[in-house]
Amino acid sequence: MKKLSFFFACCLFASCSNNTTQDNNNSSTIVVKTPSLPAAPAFNSDSAYAFVKAQVDLGPRVPGTAAHAKCADYLVSKLKSYGWDTQIQNGNISTYDGKKFNLKNIIASYKPEIANRILLMSHWDTRPFADQDSINPTKPADGADDGASGVGVLLEIARQFGISKPDVGIDILLDDLEDYGKENDNGENTWALGTQYWAKNPHKPGYIAQYGILLDMVGATGATFPREGLSSEYAPYIVKTIWNKAAQLGYTNYFVQQDIHGITDDHEYIISNANIPCVDIVNWDFKIGNFAFYHHRHSDNMNVIDKNTLKAVGQTVLEVLWEEQKKKS
Ligand SMILES: [Zn+2]
Repeated sequence: MKKLSFFFACCLFASCSNNTTQDNNNSSTIVVKTPSLPAAPAFNSDSAYAFVKAQVDLGPRVPGTAAHAKCADYLVSKLKSYGWDTQIQNGNISTYDGKKFNLKNIIASYKPEIANRILLMSHWDTRPFADQDSINPTKPADGADDGASGVGVLLEIARQFGISKPDVGIDILLDDLEDYGKENDNGENTWALGTQYWAKNPHKPGYIAQYGILLDMVGATGATFPREGLSSEYAPYIVKTIWNKAAQLGYTNYFVQQDIHGITDDHEYIISNANIPCVDIVNWDFKIGNFAFYHHRHSDNMNVIDKNTLKAVGQTVLEVLWEEQKKKS
């Protein structure tokens, strides 16, 4: 998916504002009623799992292949069926090895009339080679976790919002060509090509979101999601909100209170090029001090996908989004 990097860009944002509001009117005759929010819907992990499997069943979604084209159609039709305004952003992209591809970023908007937006992201392409594997390193893996899992979670959130219709403005960016990077990329920006393109050419001119949440490798058994360095540096308030919500829901085994350094992933370009604070929820194996054992190997298949992990991530993110309604009231 990407190499590790340390990111020393200067701070792009003013400190995040605290979203709590204070009523400064101390008059005892005024009663401020906070409208109560109905409970958030239950994230259905069976449904999310089926979305992951449906992508994997198409074959590796390597750019330029029939499986990639079929998967784009599948994702667009699903998002449209849940009532989201959905489009494909095309663009001409050259990869580090000199190949050219027609980019397909899939963008879906929920309640586009609401000005205040939240951006959800996951890459949907599969790396063209399982280059960390000792066997068949030039052939692609299934990309069940690296790609399909984040998309599966976002499809289920899209489905739930289509049913419950909460008053929140959300855009989903399923970005293409994230995983075609050069293993030893030294600042050459060979990863996250779809996101880099979108950051320069947003689907709406001047697009801005309050914040972004990126899901990457969010479905494996026993996954642990650390507070990733760039997220903590540029979106500390959102990190706190997400990890606190996970703790409240009993998911501290997944959303661990541990920090790691910054990594190169889509959120880097959302932060630095689109000026949107963004959090990366990404599986990190503390025992081996790296991405999990299946990363860019053929073992990244449906055997690693666990409904409990999908549920932990999906319910947490869904509830964070759901509670944005409180801020509007
Ligand atoms: Zn990858």
